[in-house]
Amino acid sequence: MNPCVRFAPSPTGQLHIGGARTALFNYLFARKNSGKFLVRIEDTDLERSKQEYIDQICESMTWLGLTWDDDLVYQSKRTDGYEKAIRSLLESGNAYRCFASKDELEKIRDKTGSYSYSGLWRDRSEKDIQVEMEEGKAFTVRLRVPGGKETIFNDLIYGTITVSHSELNDFIIARSDGSPVYNLTNVVDDSDMGITHVIRGEDHIANTPKQILIYQALGLDVPTFAHLPMILGQDKKRLSKRHGATGVQFYCNEGYQPEALLNYLSLLGWNPGTEEEVMSLDEIIQKFDLTMVHKKGAVFDEKKLNWISGQHLVKQSNESILSGIEIIRKDWRIDFDKAFKLSVINLMKIRSKSLVDLMTQTDYFFSDPHEFGEKDVRKIWKNDTSDIVSDIQIILMKIDQWDGESLEKKLKSFMEEKGLGFGKVMKPIRLAICGTINGPSLFEILSLLGKDICLRRLKRALSQF
Ligand code: GLU
Repeated sequence: MNPCVRFAPSPTGQLHIGGARTALFNYLFARKNSGKFLVRIEDTDLERSKQEYIDQICESMTWLGLTWDDDLVYQSKRTDGYEKAIRSLLESGNAYRCFASKDELEKIRDKTGSYSYSGLWRDRSEKDIQVEMEEGKAFTVRLRVPGGKETIFNDLIYGTITVSHSELNDFIIARSDGSPVYNLTNVVDDSDMGITHVIRGEDHIANTPKQILIYQALGLDVPTFAHLPMILGQDKKRLSKRHGATGVQFYCNEGYQPEALLNYLSLLGWNPGTEEEVMSLDEIIQKFDLTMVHKKGAVFDEKKLNWISGQHLVKQSNESILSGIEIIRKDWRIDFDKAFKLSVINLMKIRSKSLVDLMTQTDYFFSDPHEFGEKDVRKIWKNDTSDIVSDIQIILMKIDQWDGESLEKKLKSFMEEKGLGFGKVMKPIRLAICGTINGPSLFEILSLLGKDICLRRLKRALSQF
């Protein structure tokens, strides 16, 4: 049987890194095993669920390329199925009505110091229950958890997990207002949707034995479970807003590309077992193996993300980078011709971590530097620098053949002749022309910018510093 998996976000916020990683691992597992990948919106919390979050989650997933099969399933539209399941559990005796009031429960807690429920209504007579019903008393529905036993399941990542039923109590499956709890809706939906593998965050592992008990009580097949390790911040605490940007939308706005972000996310808890970590989505699908996912929390490392993202840019064609830029900034450098833009991209892609970074870092190819760092000027522009730069200005003025090779030859022979080191000559020129002290080959920059612009910028620096 081909597997069927799902991603089940609660639309109480936008899609974040953790959710995207869960969606990705489900997607990879489905694609690798010729299975189905479904999405279910868990919107039963009417107060916190918002349409705008549903839209945002779907947009982010579409942007990432994590396309799902079939229509979205909304829990808010499936109330009938939940009611039916609760009714059937009551009828079979696998669940019972509990009329214990809040006060009663609290008194027990105060007395015993324990939050565990003592099964007050577990064995009450039909007559007792009838009396309460006739009085219109509110009740919750609890699952009759088989006593003296344990639930054992084999998690694909965490191995065999055993939970004693004494730890579970008779937990609530429907609240006093009749609404079903998460553990019940989850089971009913996963079963109705034909989910064979539940792949989700490790924060749900405590729910799993309860859900298994519900499957069994309803006489349904229990799916296979795989819990993914948590994603942590640098301080090894669970990744949250405290750690800064955690929303997928942020990375999209910053010009990270979907394939690069997916590549990085795939490494959060898994690795391909080879040296090569830079992979296309197809390569990841081919190599992915759910059983090789680690148990240990995975630290979200922005530096590594930037490295992976930069590697994707290096591998990408200039044309495709330009198209990517034009998707996020339609009129990017519209006054410049395409060939020039492609040459700039070619020169700078190796030094960029994202499309936005590339656009920012290439400013000086399109306009004269706006400002110069005071510290840089102090470091680079010494007493004799203006004389050196003036000499170079004259040499450059005389050059007819304006290309990288000729420029390199001329400037190198000047340095040799004057006995000047590279730093003394090239650094001030770079500062004057680019406004920065780092960058790709200066000869190539000069060649790309052209003679007029270079001379104009040298003149300006000479008058300014
Ligand atoms: N709605 C749950 C969440 O967002 C997911 C539940 C599940 O995957 O089973 O955490």
